[in-house]
This record gives sequence, C-alpha cells and structure tokens, in this order.
Amino acid sequence: MKASIVTLGCKVNQYESTAMTEMLREAGYEMTIPENVDVVVLNTCAVTGRAESEALSLLRRLRRQNPDAKVVGVGCLAQVNPGKMAGLADLVLGQKEKSALPEHLGLPSGSTLVSPPSLASGDMGDPRPARTRALHKIQDGCDASCAYCAVPMARGPSRSHPPGRVVAGLGRYMDMGVGEVVLTGVHLGLWGRDLGGGLNLSDLLSEMDRYLSNRPDPVRVRLSSLEPLEVPLAAEGLRKYAWLAPHLHSPLQSCSDKILERMRRPYRQARAGEVLTGLRRDIPDLNLGTDLLVGFPGETDEDFEITFEAAAALPLGYMHVFPFSPRPGTRAATLPDQVPPGVKRSRVARLKKLDRRKREAFLASQEGRTRQALVENTPHRSGRRKVLTDNYLAALLPEGVAAAPGEMVEVVLSGPLNEWGLAEARL
Ligand code: SF4
Repeated sequence: MKASIVTLGCKVNQYESTAMTEMLREAGYEMTIPENVDVVVLNTCAVTGRAESEALSLLRRLRRQNPDAKVVGVGCLAQVNPGKMAGLADLVLGQKEKSALPEHLGLPSGSTLVSPPSLASGDMGDPRPARTRALHKIQDGCDASCAYCAVPMARGPSRSHPPGRVVAGLGRYMDMGVGEVVLTGVHLGLWGRDLGGGLNLSDLLSEMDRYLSNRPDPVRVRLSSLEPLEVPLAAEGLRKYAWLAPHLHSPLQSCSDKILERMRRPYRQARAGEVLTGLRRDIPDLNLGTDLLVGFPGETDEDFEITFEAAAALPLGYMHVFPFSPRPGTRAATLPDQVPPGVKRSRVARLKKLDRRKREAFLASQEGRTRQALVENTPHRSGRRKVLTDNYLAALLPEGVAAAPGEMVEVVLSGPLNEWGLAEARL
C-alpha cells in the first residue's frame, strides 16, 4: 500500500506530518509522492482565508491525481471547519484523532471524527527527522485571544512537554546526527506555564545547557518564534549559549497602537520596539524577523504609515507580510471598517519592498563574515548546494563544491541577494 502526506502551514504542522509519516511507515505503508497512491493525507492550515482556499483546492487536485485513493483531511482546518472539507475528503480527522491516523484509516468513507480541542493531546511523539534539521515540538495550543486568530479554537489551551522529555528528545535527534534542532510550538513563550512550579522557557534553556555541556558532539538549536513580550525569556540564553542560534522571529503584526488594541495584542509598539531593539543591540549578528498583518479592520492610511515607519526604523533582518483575511468564528471577522482588497494589496506591496531592503541591509552587514552553515539535504533548483547559516541566512555554495548534506561548514557570505533571493557563500 502506498501513502503520501502533503503539508500546508506552520512548523508545528510540518513536525506533525513527519510524525504521521513515521506512523504510516510503521503500519506498513510505503511513503511516496502523491500520485496514484492508496492513501493521501492533507495536513491543513486555517490561519488565513487564503490558507483555507489553498487547502480546499489542493484537496480537489489530490483527488484528481489519485482517483482510487482514500483522501484524508487533517490539521487546523479539519478541526475548526470540518464541514468545509467533508464533501472533498473521504475522511476528516481532528487534532486529537490524527495521532491515531493508521487506526482511523479503516473508517468508512464519509466519516468525520473531530473532538473538541481542549481534549486533544496533540501528542504526536518524537518523529524521526527526514532532514538535516529536525523540528522538535515542545508546546501546543494557545491561551491568548488575538482577534484575528482561529488557532486557539483549533488547538485548545497551552500544553507543554515536560523538561525531561524535551531534553531526551533533543538527545535522540543528536544521536541520529541531526545538525540543527528547531524548538517549535504554537505559542512557544507559554512553555512551562501549565506545568506548575513557575517554570518558563528560560529554565528550559538552562536545563538544555546542562545537558549539552555533558555531550561531546555539537548541535545547533534554534527558537522558532516568540511573542514580543516573551522575548526576554530567551535573551539571556541567546547571549550566553553558543549552541543557541543568533536568530529570533517575533511577530509584531502591526506597529499602530490603535490597531494592536483592536487586534487584542497584549503590548504597545513602544514596549515591543524597545525589547527588540535592546536584543539586537546586545547580540551581535542576531537576525531578527517579524510578521506584519496588513489591512486589519479599521487600519487607516495613517495607521499603516505608523506601521511602515516603525518597521523601517526597527533593526529587522526580514519581515513576513500577510494581508488580513477574516476567519469565521473570530472576533475580527465581525468587526466593522474592513479594508478594501485593493488597499490591502498596495500596502502589502510596499511592505514587501521594505522587506527586500531589510534583507539586503542585513546581508550587507554580514558581508565577509565567517558563519557556521548547515548544508541542506536537497540541492537548490539551480543544482547548487544550499546552506543555512546560524543567523538564518540562506545562501548558495559555488557550483561543484563538495559539501555533504547535513555537514556543518564555515562559509563567508557575500551579497547582493541573487535572482532567487539568496546570498552567495564560499567555503
Ligand atoms: S498568540 Fe495570538 S496569534 Fe498567536 S496563536 Fe495565540 S491567539 Fe493566535
């Protein structure tokens, strides 16, 4: 029997797809590309309207490419809006149900199985990574209530993996020779809060440091994303631990206080800017990234200009820019003063240009520096080897350079960004 898993969305989804791949393999399936297979699983995202339509059109395409397959929908969209997928997939499984995927495959076509997220353990075990970088999920769910976000509905309240389990998982990845472990979670800065005893992410990093100081083999650990007010939890670790990559992604979403309030974000721009600027000042070569959500209901030209100016002034190395799209069931979907699509498009375009300038400027600041870089598993489409530096710069090695996938190499970077938006690197 052949099976295939297609993944949309965030690092947590990628992690969980790796876990499902392992489960199916253990159940005897041969895992392959999604063409003429017996089972095809689509792991969906529900974070934006675009993610939802992408999931639905992909389901249709997967059905066409695999006419005899059982098509299974899982992930956030399956959890928050199973009805939308029911007509397109043979089986729709919620967050809890997907952790017993092989068992559920025996269910008759047309079945939908979705438990409330508060009951969902979301516990997918520690998958064997298929790549040189492993995603290590240490937390799931979210206790916040940002007005635009459907994630708490899809994934329930915050749950953390205990420190012993996190460290043991890290050790297992190291035993497999993984070069980089990315700590992921839906709301990573909440790690520990549900475990009692006042534990937080900073304690976890100290625990990891104790473990790593007793291991002779090196590994690089990266934090996936931290909310602005939770950045201080990682600041000491980023300063002290050589194994922790100098890179942090912190989603600002907007820099206008009026919009932040409407979004129900728990900070104001001055404080968030202070935290990020302070961190960048303290840690040389740190690459600081952010997310910006453009065209939130009520965002006037003036609010957008405030965001644009503040983002331009912040020491950011890159920005991910998204247009706002209302998610059914969220507060933002019912807010008045929705921004017209054309206005959103032109604001997104302006911020994307700024993003390119930020990337160029950060690369220029790294020009001629020697950095540790991990050689990626699959070659770039140019045929050259692609590497990722500790401070999150993707670069291409010159043609013909012998570097094995998974190898940690020292590279010297040069710009400007090439036609693929990547840096050039030499050994
Ligand atoms: S912090 Fe806000 S945006 Fe992030 S998952 Fe929680 S509710 Fe969603």
